[in-house]
Amino acid sequence: MNKNTFVIFLLISFLFISCGQVKTSESFTAMNTYMTVSVFAPSSKKGKQVCRELQEKVCELESVLSTTLSDSDVYQLNHNKFISEPVTPELSELLDFSKQMYGRTGGAFNPALYPVIREWGFTTEEYKVPSAERIQELLLNTDFSKVECNTEGLRLSDGMELDFGAVGKGYAADKAVEILKANGIKSALLDFGGNIQAVGKKPDGSLWRVGIKNPWEGGAAAAISVESKAVVTSGGYERFFEKDGVRYIHIFDPKTGCPSSSNLESVTIICESGRYADALSTALFVMGSEGAVAFYRTNPDFDFVLITKERKLIYSAGLRGFIEPLADFSRVECTADSFEN
Ligand code: ADP
Ligand code: MG
Repeated sequence: MNKNTFVIFLLISFLFISCGQVKTSESFTAMNTYMTVSVFAPSSKKGKQVCRELQEKVCELESVLSTTLSDSDVYQLNHNKFISEPVTPELSELLDFSKQMYGRTGGAFNPALYPVIREWGFTTEEYKVPSAERIQELLLNTDFSKVECNTEGLRLSDGMELDFGAVGKGYAADKAVEILKANGIKSALLDFGGNIQAVGKKPDGSLWRVGIKNPWEGGAAAAISVESKAVVTSGGYERFFEKDGVRYIHIFDPKTGCPSSSNLESVTIICESGRYADALSTALFVMGSEGAVAFYRTNPDFDFVLITKERKLIYSAGLRGFIEPLADFSRVECTADSFEN
């Protein structure tokens, strides 16, 4: 070995010893979305085993929560209005959490809106604008607090159907984090169709840098640096149809039974819990910027980035020093007790 080769050998050895981690990435489709998991493990064998466990867990959750797979628990519940005890623990846990969020958000987050969303064609992509009467009729069965959960099992009233689409990916990310912890993984990045879950820091000790999409020009509107956080975005630009010059998006206002027409283009929530970030991103979108900020003031246990239709970037003060604006939007920092418009 000549001197130069030896120096290179030393450098490479040093890099491996200092990080001691091998990156393994796997991509797969589940929960109607493209997912990528990247795991830093002591060996690629370990990394592959963990990635497989993660994929299996997500697929298992899909087989419980799917509204379209005919043997899923949620499908059975929607069609028979009843499933008997023992209810799958994950469904029971997600139901309890969703009920809490339904209450806390004043109904802005509502998994019982499914029949209304389907009527607009969002489940089949055969879009239509239903009549006002039809919407009112369907809204009668969307009181999520009425889902009955007792010693016999789970019961829905006639006409009620559930869809955990607004919280399922975040919940799956939480379960994935449990698997990573059980396997001693300290550093990983999960991308569940735009729901990002950062685990620990990068192996070199720096923070994960997560981009927030620019709804108009593509690319990123901002980047957020995080450690062990979920970064979840709900965007009106993600799925929509247009009719007579009006854009109808896939995030619904449970009060009207119509696609949200709030002043927001996207909402990103940053907090530890994936399920909380996911449920909140949908709910705060519906609330609009004023409602979202008011909600934050009474529940300041998360950070947020709102992008309004007027291209304003409103973010919580907790992100100061961790948010890097990358587009030419006007900026407003919002603390829990003061909000400059
Ligand atoms: P994503 O499409 O990235 O999962 P969301 O987390 O915001 O975005 O979830 C949107 C989905 O949740 C919709 O496709 C619809 O099925 C459902 N949904 C729409 N509006 C609501 C709402 N207000 N509460 C609960 N679920 C909703
Ligand atoms: Mg959501």
